[in-house]
Amino acid sequence: MIGVVTAFKCMPNCGYCCTISPVTVFPHEMLILSKLAERLDVKDLTFKPGYVVTDVKGGVRIALSYLMQLNEKGMCPFLNPDDKTCIVHSLYKPLTCRSFPYLPRVIRYVIDPELKIVDFTVEFVVSSLCPVIRNNYTPDDLETIARNVKIAIKAMPKEVDAAQEAIRVRKIYADALTALWRAGYVELRSNSSDSTNWPIVNAFEYIRQFIPQLTLDQFDPSIRRILREVED
Ligand code: SF4
Ligand code: SF4
Repeated sequence: MIGVVTAFKCMPNCGYCCTISPVTVFPHEMLILSKLAERLDVKDLTFKPGYVVTDVKGGVRIALSYLMQLNEKGMCPFLNPDDKTCIVHSLYKPLTCRSFPYLPRVIRYVIDPELKIVDFTVEFVVSSLCPVIRNNYTPDDLETIARNVKIAIKAMPKEVDAAQEAIRVRKIYADALTALWRAGYVELRSNSSDSTNWPIVNAFEYIRQFIPQLTLDQFDPSIRRILREVED
């Protein structure tokens, strides 16, 4: 059981998780990573929209997540192919990367037109794609970690911390959209058959049109300093 299971430690110069699949990022992270790519001369960074919610009042689909695509070599554009290190590690690493291998197994959004509320639930899983996990943890260990957050914190404190931070961030978006909905600025639907061709907008930028107080600092107090440093 977990008492005798080794605490998780990421293997240096592995980088395998940076080659498995596109990385889910938040809308503001998409903007931060785009700025970093520009300044670090990373040319093959692309995103596709992830989860979208329709605003039938504004005639747009609001992207609440994006998928950072792997490049032509099948790796994240920020992975240094020579030593398999992340070049944004000390600048801004997406929350998904910080929490790997402790990841949402499923995120269920609730878009309730009657109560005008945006909410969500998250269930976690420990990815056995990670070689450290595969070689050191039994399926029972992984099940226990996924089901019990106290045990998860003991086994992989930094990763669980990042996953909990991702919940806090997701809540900021959900609460902002709920507030805009109740104030009559937006009229949300989980999907609408008419909206397939409507433009997709970044949730951070869209919300800021109505709530300019929503800033990058609320997500990461050091991000402005980091972006300034990279610029210099
Ligand atoms: S696959 Fe696992 S060991 Fe390898 S870099 Fe990712 S988290 Fe670390
Ligand atoms: S941002 Fe860094 S940690 Fe995340 S997938 Fe890319 S190289 Fe890996």
